[in-house]
Amino acid sequence: MFKQLQEKHQLSFLLILSIVSVFGITPFIIIRFIENNIVAALIDLAIVSGILTLVGYAHYTKKPRVIALLVNIGVIAIIITNGINSMLWVYPVVAVTFFLVKPIEALILTLSNVAIIASIPNLFDVMPLNSYFTTNLMLAACAFVYASFGNKQLALLAELNSTDPLTGALNRRALNDDTLAAISRAERYNSTYLLALLDLDFFKKVNDEFGHAEGDRVLKQLVSITNSHIRESDKLYRFGGEEFVLIIPEIPPKEQVSFINKLRETIKNELKTPAGNSVTVSFGVAAWVPGTTVASWFKRADDAMYQAKEQGRDCAVFSKDSNFEISKPN
Ligand code: GH3
Ligand code: MG
Ligand code: MG
Repeated sequence: MFKQLQEKHQLSFLLILSIVSVFGITPFIIIRFIENNIVAALIDLAIVSGILTLVGYAHYTKKPRVIALLVNIGVIAIIITNGINSMLWVYPVVAVTFFLVKPIEALILTLSNVAIIASIPNLFDVMPLNSYFTTNLMLAACAFVYASFGNKQLALLAELNSTDPLTGALNRRALNDDTLAAISRAERYNSTYLLALLDLDFFKKVNDEFGHAEGDRVLKQLVSITNSHIRESDKLYRFGGEEFVLIIPEIPPKEQVSFINKLRETIKNELKTPAGNSVTVSFGVAAWVPGTTVASWFKRADDAMYQAKEQGRDCAVFSKDSNFEISKPN
């Protein structure tokens, strides 16, 4: 999620910058052609075409790192060819670099670039070297702070966007995205995937007997117990209320029933009311099968959950078309 947000941010920044550059440079191409300054006109034309090609490439490949490198090499090449007249291009390049790569990478790239340009012979006969260094370092320092802060904000936004505030489990928005991603992965690699619904048994009673705050604590504890007994690739989502969803990738078919039942037993042993009674969970589980859609997957898991509740709760039922027998409560 963070990566997607960051990519969008980088690409839209690049797009705005390219529009500004194209509109800013194009009049000069025309003026220079009118003045018969063909070399300068062609250089400007090459810059505009280069910017458009790079932006197109970045949108197509989603590789802003390559763009950052090319832009930095480009500015050195232009200054070597054009001399002091193209010197001001360094500043937008320093700024844009910080929006394209990680702040620390941008800092290294910028410092190298500034140093290489400083070593170009005869360039600083007319321009004071110390002003060149100071202004570039000031810009780089500001851009570094701004980009680092921006990245932290994006990360926080991505976390808030995908996390349930009460329990810290992933939220329904993340579930929607990840279910679609799981289906397309399963279709592509024909891999095994389980979708498990978890519903706390008689949770209303916990609230009624011990109060809503205690109910909240039980929900939080359920998430913490579950998360500490699943693999990193297994993801837990809060579906709503006291219902949760697990998406479990790549679990061998013969281990699926025992994995779910072990988790159910663990929750039963560790999740307690203040009176010391176990809080149990029912599971409705459906394995991905060819042709599964989001709706059909949830429907099969939901039907299995309905059966689990019908059978007396504290048990796991696997959807029939997942080729599993019903697992009886102990
Ligand atoms: P069953 O075994 O059939 O699932 O019974 P149940 O009592 O768990 O199910 P029911 O749907 O009757 O009640 C769910 C309860 O969950 C009712 C609601 O107040 C409680 N609940 C939902 N969200 C929250 C929450 O965020 N915090 C607390 N404390 N309770 C919640
Ligand atoms: Mg319930
Ligand atoms: Mg429920």
